[in-house]
Amino acid sequence: MPPLPAKKPARKEPSMATELSILKPCPCCGHDAELRQRYEPYIRFTVCCGICKLGLPWRVSKARVVEQWNRRTHV
Ligand SMILES: [Zn+2]
Repeated sequence: MPPLPAKKPARKEPSMATELSILKPCPCCGHDAELRQRYEPYIRFTVCCGICKLGLPWRVSKARVVEQWNRRTHV
């Protein structure tokens, strides 16, 4: 298991629930996709599948990775 960053900035994400609820399942295997977040060296977001490891590059905007992921699902 990779080491996780110990500190997390206290940051409010008011629209998080809405954004998460529109995540579509993995286009490869149909498993639920996961929204992931990292804090170091910068805050970045990605969406990936925990089963087949399909994933997107890390992005600055959470809304953008979600949007990109949902678009990919139709390919
Ligand atoms: Zn998958």
